[in-house]
Amino acid sequence: MEKEFDGDCRCYYGVHCVLKTSWTDENPGRMFLGCPNYRDGGGCNYFDWIDPPISNRKKSTFFSLLRRNESSEVRQHRIENKLEFVEGEMHMLRADVDRLEVERQSLEENLRTL
Ligand SMILES: [Zn+2]
Repeated sequence: MEKEFDGDCRCYYGVHCVLKTSWTDENPGRMFLGCPNYRDGGGCNYFDWIDPPISNRKKSTFFSLLRRNESSEVRQHRIENKLEFVEGEMHMLRADVDRLEVERQSLEENLRTL
């Protein structure tokens, strides 16, 4: 997430700052202003938090939500795999039904000729 900050903020090189979100363990989701060229390695080291420090309670809530989200993603993957498997089974069963129908028809014909 990166966008230009509406307010007047310039880095040490006089370039407009960008608003970014930190995703470090210490500051998850905490926004800050930084030099736009920081990531390219050529920027100055301008850096200023916008959000207040994150309390330990919020941090632990954040991480428990993150974990819950991850486990629901894992569950979703498992369900998707199962669905794929069931669809494959269904496909094979349909083929069986078709084959049995052909067999039944030929048996019926045999019966008629007898
Ligand atoms: Zn800069």
